[in-house]
Formats: sequence, structure tokens, C-alpha cells
Amino acid sequence: MKITPIIGIEVHVELKTNSKMFCGCPADHFGKDPNTQTCPVCLGLPGALPVPNEKAIEYCIKIGLALNCKINSQSKFDRKQYFYPDLSKGYQISQYDEPFCTDGYIVLDSGKRVGIERVHMEEDTGKLQHLILEGKKVSLIDYNRSGVPLVEIVSRPDISSSIEAKEYLKKIHEIIKAIGVSSADMEKGQMRLEPTVNVCLEDEHGSHYTPLVEIKNINSFNFASAAIDFEVTRQTEEFKKTGVEKSATNKTTRGYDSIKKITFLQRTKEEAKDYRYFPEPDIPPYIIENELIDKLKSELPELPDQVIVKLIEKGIESKYAKILYANPESLAVINKFNGDSEIEIPKLANLIANKKIDIAGDVKGEYLKATKIGNTNIDELEGVIEKIITDNPGIVAEYRKGKINVAGFFIGQAMKETKGQADPRTLNQVVIRLLNK
Ligand SMILES: [Zn+2]
Repeated sequence: MKITPIIGIEVHVELKTNSKMFCGCPADHFGKDPNTQTCPVCLGLPGALPVPNEKAIEYCIKIGLALNCKINSQSKFDRKQYFYPDLSKGYQISQYDEPFCTDGYIVLDSGKRVGIERVHMEEDTGKLQHLILEGKKVSLIDYNRSGVPLVEIVSRPDISSSIEAKEYLKKIHEIIKAIGVSSADMEKGQMRLEPTVNVCLEDEHGSHYTPLVEIKNINSFNFASAAIDFEVTRQTEEFKKTGVEKSATNKTTRGYDSIKKITFLQRTKEEAKDYRYFPEPDIPPYIIENELIDKLKSELPELPDQVIVKLIEKGIESKYAKILYANPESLAVINKFNGDSEIEIPKLANLIANKKIDIAGDVKGEYLKATKIGNTNIDELEGVIEKIITDNPGIVAEYRKGKINVAGFFIGQAMKETKGQADPRTLNQVVIRLLNK
């Protein structure tokens, strides 16, 4: 039986604006005393009117642009109704059928494109805490996070393995950080992941699709990957036992237990119709002018893939280019010595990526020491010795039979060839290394 995972991912990103999405309360809520950053708007008190945060909308559009999306000229906010205590209004202001951005993609290293269905703007919810206080089980609510600008990035179900899922997520994370719209600190919940997984099973009767499962609120790439792998196995086994296939009504939501490394059933999934979306009556629809799109485009920095391609064009191996990109201090060192006639950038990149140079120290000095011995470049020295070895197969054979003192012949020849410029210890080491190859 052929098993193909089908994976789409929703990524929630908290934006780093000064204020919340629809009021003036501070958006930075991490570690603040509960309910100290609230007002009638983000508490949803009757009569309070939301005023959209223009900066947040610009950030949302920037994310869309960086993810190759179409920016819709017309857009609006909608109310998504659901009754849960983390949203005191009884609805969330989100976007339903006219999001700011649609139809983007990102390209994985294999060249595969993962489609992005939409990038929309919404508000975050409050946080529930379940505790035991004075022997009683209680649930407490902190509304500091309620109303923080949240962007949702929805991929198409184009991802077919946990490895691809992880690469997709890392790329999204790098892009979000590069364009400066969010700190995207996963430990602080500023980027949260929700993969939707099912499996296509092919046997002699044709293709069977298992019911969709959405895995909620994952806060690490490794957990996302592990949860996906667990679901693929679980759904395959489940199908073999029950034969139940995907239908319009059997989508479920599961949580991920990172300690037991399993997913667990939370609830059967609401349909869009259950949310009874309708246009937010307190916020007029948006017309996005081309001038704004052009302005935001011009403000975008170079994106991660563009920076990496430029490094590769300098002759740096792609695996090293990625390591350097992931470490801004290393990248700064590469840029600093770009154009220095004594430094070959690919060699410097190799040394930095392999941690053979302390980038906080004397980089140039260490580079010169590592690549040149005396006045002899190590590559040139190896070339000289290899040539002597090739030219003298008889003596090499004697050495390899056990007459190790003939090594002296090669050392002498190499000294002569390099006119005594090479560091003798290094020269000895290289001769022995190459003879023993
Ligand atoms: Zn507020």
C-alpha cells in the first residue's frame, strides 16, 4: 500500500506593533501582570468601537508581499462568532472571504513550491489558566493578549512529509524575522503552528483519503514534525481497522502532548458555517491603493533566499551559506571582508561555518594562520607533494610496504620545490598524510 501524507499548515504570527489591533493598549503582553493591559475595546464591553491599527495592516501586507501573494485591492474585516471565555466579545474580528493577501507561495530547496492560500489579519485571544487555588479547581483569564494583532498564514495542502513541513516552517520563520514585523519567538508563543494532516492510501481498489485532523497550537518545529509523523502512522492504522474515509463532516481537532509524544482528540471541528461569519459593521471595507503596495514593497529588505543566493554566487557552498545566514554576526564578518584581496571569501566562510575561527577575535589573523603556513598556501603545498608522489610510484610502493624512512625523500623533494619557504612541521604532516592516503 502506498502512503502519501497530505499536509497544510496554518501559522499564526503576533505582530510587534506598539499597540493592539483595535485599541491603544500595548501589544507587548509577555510577562506582564494579568489584566493590566486592557480597555473597554479589547475587553469587548458594550458600545466600545474598534479602530484598526494601520501599522498592523501594513505589516500583514508586507508578509503577503514577501510570500509572493496577490494583494487584494478590496478587503474587509468580518466577525467570527464563537463562544469561548478567551474572547469576551463572543466573536473574533478576523477576515473571511476578502483577506488582504491571497495566492502566494514559497519555494523549498528541492525546487518544490508550497502554495499559500491566504494571509489575513485578525486579533489574538485572551489566555486561560487552569489552576488549583485553595484546593479548588479554577480557570482564570488574562486579557492582556486579547486584541494583539495576529496574522494567519494558511498554506495549501501541498506538503507531503514532516521534513518538508519543517523546511516550510523554517522558511516562513526566517522571512517573518527578516522583514521585521514580528520577533516570532516561538517560546513566547509569538509564532504558533497548526498543521492539518491526512493520508492518501493507495491499494488495488484505488485511492483512499483518511479524515482530516487539525493539530492545534504547536510551538516548535520539532513538535510539529513529530506530531505530523505520529498522525500519519495513527491515521494509517485507524484506516486499516475501520476503513473510515474523509467526509464533509468528520474533521477533528487534536492536541499534541510533547511529553508523551502523541496527539489526543480535543473536539470535532467546527465548520465555517458554525462560525456564522458576517461583515464587521464597525469597520468600513478597505480599498488598498497601488501606491501603498509599492511603498511597502520598497520597504522590504532582501529576503533570506536572496541573501543566500548572493552568498552562493560568491563561491560559498550552499550548506555554509545557510549556516552563515542563520547567524547574523557571522554574516556581518563575511560582508566586512568581502573585497579584501588577502581573503578568499569561500575559504573564510568554510572556516567560520566550521567554527575554526573565532568571529569575535582577530578574524583576519586567524584566517591567514589557518590558510597559509609560512609563505606557503596549504592547497599549493598539497599540490606540490601530490605531484612528487605521483612522479615516484616505486618509492611510494616501498613506503607502503613498510620502509617508512623513505618518507624523508618526499620531505626533501618538497622542501626543494617550495624553496624552503614551507613550515617544516606542517610539510612533514602533509607528506605523511598524503603517503598514508
Ligand atoms: Zn485595549
